[in-house]
Amino acid sequence: MAKAALIVIDMLNDFVKGALKCPRAQRIIPQIRKLIRAARKKGVKVIYANDAHLPAVDAEFDVWGAHAVKGTKGAEVIDELKPQKGDFVIEKRRYSGFFETDLDILLRELKVDRVILTGLHTNCCVKHTAADAMFRGYKIIIPEDGVEAFSEEDHRSGLEYLKKFYKASVMSTREVLEEMG
Ligand code: ZN
Repeated sequence: MAKAALIVIDMLNDFVKGALKCPRAQRIIPQIRKLIRAARKKGVKVIYANDAHLPAVDAEFDVWGAHAVKGTKGAEVIDELKPQKGDFVIEKRRYSGFFETDLDILLRELKVDRVILTGLHTNCCVKHTAADAMFRGYKIIIPEDGVEAFSEEDHRSGLEYLKKFYKASVMSTREVLEEMG
């Protein structure tokens, strides 16, 4: 999977344990850690797509209330999954990691043709990032135990949507690790 990039979406303090706390996020941390570690070792680029909102401006606040405000502790990646040298960090102000960010040009410069999407939420930021990935011609791989949502139903329906509309390859983290070699 030399042409893949691993994208870690919104694994931030506010999403895991802060303003938008999602208890189910805890269960995906070990899988994402494994994927990040393997990716770094195999030369698969690790890209963080992180909410970094402007206070009192961003439209999302009408839906969710204030969260992941740029420059605050809540907008930092959780300690367990911190970016390291050689990783990339993309700041976003919308659900999609592509919207008005450098993600597409970065992926093109890295000669990436497929994205492994992990993080939060299966039916929101993962879904919208997958939509924009598909529109731009990237293949999508989803480790189903490496993404989560507020409820089992949200998670499951999100996965079904990703498969049906974006032809996402939904597999286990173990299978993704095997494909990384
Ligand atoms: Zn947000």
